[in-house]
Amino acid sequence: MSKLKYFTDYFKSLNFRLMLLFALFGIIPGILLCFGMLNSYEKRAISLRSSEISSHAKILGNQIISNDYLNQPDSSQINAQLEQLSTIYDGRIMIIDGRFRILKDTYKLDEHKTIISEEVIKSFYGEEITKYDKQNRYIELALPLYEPLRDETEEIQEVAGVMLVSVSTDGISLNEQYLRRNATVMVLAGVFAVLVLGILSALRLVHPFHKMAGKIEEIQAGYGEDELNVNDYTETAKICDTFNRLLGRMKVLDDSRQEFVSNVSHELKTPLTSMKVLADSINSMGDAPVELYKEFMADIGNEVERETKIINDLLSLVKMDKSAGDLNISNVNINELLEQILKRLQPIAKKQDIELVLESFRPVTAEVDEVKITIAITNLIENGIKYNKKDGWVHVSLNADHQYFYLKVEDSGIGIPEDSLEHIYERFYRVDKSHSREIGGTGLGLAITRSAILMHRGAVKVFSTEGEGTIFTVRIPLKYIL
Ligand code: ADP
Repeated sequence: MSKLKYFTDYFKSLNFRLMLLFALFGIIPGILLCFGMLNSYEKRAISLRSSEISSHAKILGNQIISNDYLNQPDSSQINAQLEQLSTIYDGRIMIIDGRFRILKDTYKLDEHKTIISEEVIKSFYGEEITKYDKQNRYIELALPLYEPLRDETEEIQEVAGVMLVSVSTDGISLNEQYLRRNATVMVLAGVFAVLVLGILSALRLVHPFHKMAGKIEEIQAGYGEDELNVNDYTETAKICDTFNRLLGRMKVLDDSRQEFVSNVSHELKTPLTSMKVLADSINSMGDAPVELYKEFMADIGNEVERETKIINDLLSLVKMDKSAGDLNISNVNINELLEQILKRLQPIAKKQDIELVLESFRPVTAEVDEVKITIAITNLIENGIKYNKKDGWVHVSLNADHQYFYLKVEDSGIGIPEDSLEHIYERFYRVDKSHSREIGGTGLGLAITRSAILMHRGAVKVFSTEGEGTIFTVRIPLKYIL
């Protein structure tokens, strides 16, 4: 199984594909070129040999006619020339007269016999025939022998005989075989060279990627450099750059997670430490009055309440940190939702003489997770009440267009210093730690609010002037976007 995987991995590798490419572009054209050239050599050699024989034969044909050889075939001069031609070309020459009789056969096999073949008949009709029989390796030529005839008006020619020449092409075949053998050796050597070069070049080309994989493994194992730098190719440099940015982001995430864990431990420890101090001091008093016991127990009760609030906020935050798929989306009437929230917060506002006003510009229904959006809005309005002045006010307004609904929470409170504005959404961040603690803040409220809004693909913005007040604006899509 693992062997199979090794092979499939290898066939899928860049290394193998590069080799294949080298082979395709290096070997195949070489082979095609070689065989193409051999074939054209054969054609060219045959055509050259044919035209050479044809022109020799034509000269001899003219002499045959002028010496009236067809009627007197004993001319020693012509016979000698015919023998010479047949020797030169290693072939057989036959001279056929008008009655299809073989007057001369340089092989002396068929003299005085009659020959009626397709080529001879066609030649008597004036056709000049050249035929190459590849299998039996010979060229056959049939040439008409023209005799001039004197007419009263014009000079005409008549086919008086045919010259049949068959020449062996063994020489050409031998040459071709020799060339083919040489070419095969050369092609094999070429294939071997291309393969070796292909393997070496593919290994060389792929090397930076292996280097990169090795370095990533080192980084993952936690030793070596903590940055990836393989700049051999533009592509590897780009991958390294992206990888380093990802690594940076992961480090930031890891740092913030560590910071969050240490903050959580610290925040959870503070009420416990207070409780311990309260319990220890009352125990060390021995016979303390009942009123003192009651007072200390009330303080311990407050610390327990605070611990519970921190734990509840942390649980809300964890819920908000989950993926958007965990949203429980339904169609919610936002006007009614706001009225309910304000009704619930009215007593707290009244306690601090804060005027709480809701202004709805139009009826709004939106696809939201009711619980999460309620938590987010409650936190904003609650902050407006908590960080307010005596006889202050909190104005909440709701508006919408065809795409979003807009919520504005405006207060006449203490405001947020400019340099704190960019930190207020951080977990456990409080502008004034002791003041926030006093009024029961955990520093998690705005972090929860922001996560809930982002889960709905919305946005939240803050504008504030210290000593004058703060405005939070929220924008959430009416239709939930996946
Ligand atoms: P907390 O639980 O302390 O209120 P939040 O995350 O809700 O935590 O707010 C973070 C800090 O931002 C608060 O401690 C407070 O200093 C500041 N803040 C938030 N809302 C307001 C506001 N409306 N006016 C003034 N300060 C605010």
